[in-house]
Amino acid sequence: GNFPVLIHNLTEFYARSYPDNTCLSLGDKQLTFSELDAQVNQLANAMLSLEFSPGQRVAILGENSIEHAICFLAASKVGAVAVPLNYRLAPVELAYVINDAEARLLLVMDSALEQLTPLREHLSAKVNIVSSSSDDSLHWQEWLEQFDQSAPQIELGRDTPILQLYTSGTTGNPKGVVLSQYNMMSTIMLGNLTAACRPNVGSAGIGIAPLFHIGGAGYLLSGLANGMHIIIHETFDPMKFLDDIEQNPVEVVFMVPAMIMFILQIPGIEKRDFSGVKQIAYGASPISESLLRQAIDIFKCDFAQLYGMTETAGYGTVLVQNDHAKALAGQPELLRSCGRPNIGASVKLMDSHGNEVEQGEIGEIWLKSNSSMLHYYNLEAATASSLTDGWVHTGDAGYQDEEGYIYLKDRIKDMVVSGGENIYPTEVENALVQHPGIADVAVIGVPDEKFGEALLAVVVLAPEQSLTAEEMIEFCRDKIAGYKIPRQLKLIDQLPRNPSGKLLKKELRAPYWEGTDRGIG
Ligand code: ATP
Ligand code: MG
Repeated sequence: GNFPVLIHNLTEFYARSYPDNTCLSLGDKQLTFSELDAQVNQLANAMLSLEFSPGQRVAILGENSIEHAICFLAASKVGAVAVPLNYRLAPVELAYVINDAEARLLLVMDSALEQLTPLREHLSAKVNIVSSSSDDSLHWQEWLEQFDQSAPQIELGRDTPILQLYTSGTTGNPKGVVLSQYNMMSTIMLGNLTAACRPNVGSAGIGIAPLFHIGGAGYLLSGLANGMHIIIHETFDPMKFLDDIEQNPVEVVFMVPAMIMFILQIPGIEKRDFSGVKQIAYGASPISESLLRQAIDIFKCDFAQLYGMTETAGYGTVLVQNDHAKALAGQPELLRSCGRPNIGASVKLMDSHGNEVEQGEIGEIWLKSNSSMLHYYNLEAATASSLTDGWVHTGDAGYQDEEGYIYLKDRIKDMVVSGGENIYPTEVENALVQHPGIADVAVIGVPDEKFGEALLAVVVLAPEQSLTAEEMIEFCRDKIAGYKIPRQLKLIDQLPRNPSGKLLKKELRAPYWEGTDRGIG
């Protein structure tokens, strides 16, 4: 017979073996493993009362919450698919996702009650809404209390979908990525073996990445799967993060580069106590070498860079601590690499005809592992063009050196072609961010009569600094080739980023490319 290990089996184990260990907390609210399991069973039984059948979707709306974890695990128990929603989307965008997922049930946290009002008119009548609002017949607490807390008995296979996570929508419309029990199980296990998590029962982690993003959801499930206590933060708040690190046995954290940047900008940061933190895993968007060096200097712990995407559930490559150490000991280029293939993952670099490029040449990165998604939900054409025999086409350009290290150049959609030369803006940004007057920068292509496209640097100045286009050009001279130097400069107060810290270049490009494809990416 086939006895797969399913995601909820992990927390059931801790509910038996360590029932009184705290597993989740948010502010003053705390839950032990036995309480978690009871509440998960209750929601699972409640879902079954609505005649939930395997494969149906349950959506959850709100800032990071304990209920997210309960929802993921209850979905796991009944074979339903949890769809955590990006609460920052506008009502029509949210409705698009909820209707696209054909959600049977929508769980609305109090943090999203205000959004629910304008959302209602756009929703299909088939979705049952659970909230604490008196407008909804299913009141969160009163509804749940009617159901018992014993485990429902349902047999599920390892390929049962459990999570539907929408891509960040950095380059276009978000796509629903369907991930199976086996995908998530592989992510957790391979994460334990390499870098994401070096967990200990009873140690703590802080969930700061959004739970509707693979980074946040993966970290939460890995932590619970390892018997840890995950301290959930509703949104990212650098000061709160530092306080919780000092007050709890936090050993491993996952951060996106924008979070690291905000933390390092806090005055007096070098006087805070990070001695308990053993490892920082980071990824989800490019990190500049200067930011990484600063982080290593301040935090003085192990570092692991993860490169992956929603479609690969986990990470396909990892730059392990030993690589960071090698970089500091005389191989500095390693700080610009996203590492080598993770255990159980394969990488190849492909040209636009679907052939492998020569070693060292730039190509599109394809990733394959046991956590490659099942498919995009209801998007057959997109699935066909992004998934070949389990190989995920990442849309990222890069090359591999002789030792197998992968160097990301940029997203193919962000590449700028100027006067016939391919320019990868990330490289230009990495040069510019070394300027002491520049706090943050994005480089985009704008229309140009002579060259087709020209580079524009959109810059956030550091406090009390100034910068002219001439000074910027001069600064770049000895750092990058002439054709890669932006001639145009635009100053801005803040760059548009989504909650997982990704730069929204399509928003920066839009005003320049109105009416063309380039603007929207
Ligand atoms: P969409 O696919 O909707 O445009 P998205 O690609 O930003 O959005 P995600 O799946 O959240 O959605 O992000 C995956 C992408 O994030 C990767 O394809 C890559 O471009 C970027 N990324 C992930 N990890 C790293 C890393 N370590 N360094 C640089 N970029 C990274
Ligand atoms: Mg993508």
